[in-house]
Amino acid sequence: MLARRRCELDLAVEGMDCPACALKVEAGARSVTGVISAEASAVTGALRVVHDGTVRPEDVAAAVKARGYRVRLLRRDPEREGEDVLRRRLGLAVGSGAFLAAAFLARWVAAAWTGAPPGWPSVLTRLAAALFLLSTALGGRLVAVRALEALRSRTVNFEVLVIVAALGAIALGDLPEAALVLFLFAVGETLEAAGVRRTRRALGSLLDLVPRTALVRREGRELEVPVAELRVGDTVIVRPGERLPVDGEVVAGLSHVNQAPVTGEAMPVAKGPGDRVFAGTVNGAGALEVVSTRDPEDTTLARVVHLVEEAQLRKARHQRQVDRFAAWYTPVVVGLAVVVGLVTPAVLGRPLIPYVYRALALLLVACPCALVLSTPVAVVAAIGQAARRGVLVKGGQALEAMGRAGVVALDKTGTLTVGRPEVSDVVVAPGAQVAGRPLDESSLLELAAAVEWRSEHPLAEAIRRRAALGSPETDGGLLATARNFEAIPGRGAKARVAGRNYYVGRRLLFESDLGVPTGELGRVGESLEREGKTVVYVGCHSEVLGLIAAGDTLRPEAEEAVARLRRAGVDRLVLLTGDNPATARVVAERLGLDDCRAGLLPETKVGEVEALAAALRPEGRTLVMVGDGVNDAPALAAADIGVAMGAAGTDQALEAADVALMSDDLRQVAYAVRLGRRAVAVIRQNVAVAVGIKVAALALASAGLLQLWMAVLADTGTTVLVILNGLRLLREDGPGTGAA
Ligand code: ADP
Ligand code: MG
Repeated sequence: MLARRRCELDLAVEGMDCPACALKVEAGARSVTGVISAEASAVTGALRVVHDGTVRPEDVAAAVKARGYRVRLLRRDPEREGEDVLRRRLGLAVGSGAFLAAAFLARWVAAAWTGAPPGWPSVLTRLAAALFLLSTALGGRLVAVRALEALRSRTVNFEVLVIVAALGAIALGDLPEAALVLFLFAVGETLEAAGVRRTRRALGSLLDLVPRTALVRREGRELEVPVAELRVGDTVIVRPGERLPVDGEVVAGLSHVNQAPVTGEAMPVAKGPGDRVFAGTVNGAGALEVVSTRDPEDTTLARVVHLVEEAQLRKARHQRQVDRFAAWYTPVVVGLAVVVGLVTPAVLGRPLIPYVYRALALLLVACPCALVLSTPVAVVAAIGQAARRGVLVKGGQALEAMGRAGVVALDKTGTLTVGRPEVSDVVVAPGAQVAGRPLDESSLLELAAAVEWRSEHPLAEAIRRRAALGSPETDGGLLATARNFEAIPGRGAKARVAGRNYYVGRRLLFESDLGVPTGELGRVGESLEREGKTVVYVGCHSEVLGLIAAGDTLRPEAEEAVARLRRAGVDRLVLLTGDNPATARVVAERLGLDDCRAGLLPETKVGEVEALAAALRPEGRTLVMVGDGVNDAPALAAADIGVAMGAAGTDQALEAADVALMSDDLRQVAYAVRLGRRAVAVIRQNVAVAVGIKVAALALASAGLLQLWMAVLADTGTTVLVILNGLRLLREDGPGTGAA
């Protein structure tokens, strides 16, 4: 079968900030043939459409327009847009309020001015009426536009309901009520726009971290070029104190670079020739020459921003429930209003007016605005805040699941340890030979390095470092004869050296897979393992020639990270590793972990992770797996939440993980758990408040006790409360995690 193409389209939608609108926009976009899925966010104003390659932006724009919203095809400038919307709303709200105040004043004077000349009170009363109508018109200006657009496309939105209620009040002769309703509504919309703008701003500024121009050396001359024109391979000169314009490798100069904008680490990192640097980070006191390794739109920072935007579109579990609820809530309440307003008086033979009034109040209660906003504001705020600290959370679902973490499983190498083992012992088996020559320690290392030449495993790096070979061309010897490099994941590596297959790997590779006993050497290895070292054996399919032991140091912050995870409410910490049990136990004991599963193969590691996750499910808690995101990718995928460390620079980890820590700082895991918990708490509070107030308003309206303006105030007030509560997540939470 032909694979379906998947293309993405990012659009900005104007005026989509009553969140029920987002649902309509999505429905509109989905109605276009060729569209596979559409997700819209009322909070960010973004619409992402996934389609099969046949859809043009204009088609989507037309379909969305039919639902009453305008789509902008250009990439948006969220900051500016928020500003305009806010200013317009503020103007209308203030105007409406001023006329409303004047109207009440005129009415009061008309009533209180006892010695007025004849005729004046009625003039004043008429003036008050005119002022009320003016206030109504200003307050209702935006509402009316959207209501008309919706009616034109034969749909009913909340704005239609508000207009109907206001017109109803006018028809009943209650001008102040109509004006008050629309004034409050305008105030609410203004506050909403302000809240939404604040949330958007939390993110928008990330990309501004990259300078607009860069100093480049081309053909011996230095010239300033726009960053967008930089190409891979350009040599960029970064002066002291400047921001880096590209991702690249330092070729000259020494400096310290503050990487906080990308990784969240507070401490500047020393950089010299050969080191990687990232766009958006800040150079310290030295000048650097950097060769660009990424196109400007493909830098780590750009990817992070893109992924965060995408994450914000991905809906949290709560939000889906709320969306479903909203879809039937509104029609039901509107139906109820019709029954109360028209059917009840007719059936019971009561006077019409009071019941119509009750019905109008019900119409206003029918908007699920606060409820629909309760989740996304919290999610967007939390994700934006985390991104600024170098923690990339891929969506509301990941955030919530992080907040429900019960067990955290940690990989050993590169996660709890620095992942840079150093060779400590080399033992040659008595009488061992290679290519007819007796082996000594240095030729055993040479053989092992030749086998590991192409391996990315930290142990392979340690062996290569210690062997200190040049390149196959310059070095001659065993390395020059090495061919057919092959990784055996979770076990070791294999290559053909001097015409024969050699292996480097764990004991199990030799004893079970190759059927070669390790004998006396194995016992030496065991005693080294009890010292906390990792031992690999070197040999061929008939004999073991020697062993190499390497020690890895614990991360300095590992202990503190464990303590913070416990404080964040994680019940159990489990070490999962492919390394041998003795070594693993040393690490687990040193850190006081609860459990330790060692000697795992990649397959069994996945099995362990699945079993741990399954055991937690009945309690409604989740399993978080922390690893490096490259070697551990399958285990991370098997966990409820996979957290990849040190993701800056490794695209694979960045894309695959549910939560990516841009730095190597293990304490960020605890930060993410705590943020998740706070977000879940805020969402619960929001939903409770929104539902509680709606229920109370419904009860009052049915009893005929709810004034129209009270209905609007309840709705607007809750919406504002919910936004403010969500924005609390933008605040720093306690003393930092070591990352500012
Ligand atoms: P961890 O869970 O500690 O990250 P891995 O799954 O990466 O461990 O590897 C498990 C074990 O397999 C290592 O401890 C090592 O003994 C062996 N191993 C894996 N790859 C290699 C390699 N390239 N060279 C030598 N040994 C290896
Ligand atoms: Mg590993």
